[in-house]
Amino acid sequence: MKKDVQIAIDGPAGSGKSTIARKLAERLNLDYIDTGAMYRAITLAAINMGIAPGDRKGIIDTAVRSRIQLRGVKVFLNGEDVSLKVRMPLVDKRVSEVASIPEVRKILVGLQRQMAARGGIVMDGRDIGTSVLPEARYKFFLTATLEERAKRRFQDLVKTNPQITLKQVMNEMERRDLLDSTRGHSPLKVADDAVVIDTTGKSIEEVLDEIMGIVGG
Ligand code: C5P
Repeated sequence: MKKDVQIAIDGPAGSGKSTIARKLAERLNLDYIDTGAMYRAITLAAINMGIAPGDRKGIIDTAVRSRIQLRGVKVFLNGEDVSLKVRMPLVDKRVSEVASIPEVRKILVGLQRQMAARGGIVMDGRDIGTSVLPEARYKFFLTATLEERAKRRFQDLVKTNPQITLKQVMNEMERRDLLDSTRGHSPLKVADDAVVIDTTGKSIEEVLDEIMGIVGG
């Protein structure tokens, strides 16, 4: 695999893109960049600062002042490892609003492009193939039915929150997908030159093999 290759993986929540992107990066010995974790970290920072939903200026100020770093699969906010905290349901609830603000996206997309310029990467998100890395050598768009995506996320969340129901997860996911795909600035959509893979009913290994068949080893 060429050292400077860029692989973009986009898709809605629960489509399997983070797991697939991480494993693909391992197999190909490339860096993995989880851009969702970056939007989540800004959201967490805003929550920590007591910024109310709808306070655009407060959110933008938070984004300007926050230092976000990715090290392997971990995300750091102002030097603190927040990899677990960014998965909290409250962050899920507020992240799409934060990600819809163009000023926030500008800051994070700038960082993402800097990271990509350092060498070969697998980057996952919503707008990687369409906006962050439009010249990426390979682009994939992963999908799955809402039911399957919600089931996957539910299985994760129920481990730490036994109260949660599948219906709640499904509603929350549907809401987030709608916000992400209808926002004005770089919404979730399939890049014209992306390979679309429906992961419904497929194992991680099956999807990985499909992608490896295209990118080679
Ligand atoms: O991928 P993940 O579900 O962790 O992303 C969390 C949220 O971050 C998404 O729902 C979306 O609002 C936002 N996001 C984005 N653009 C990206 C990655 C994530 O807007 N490239």
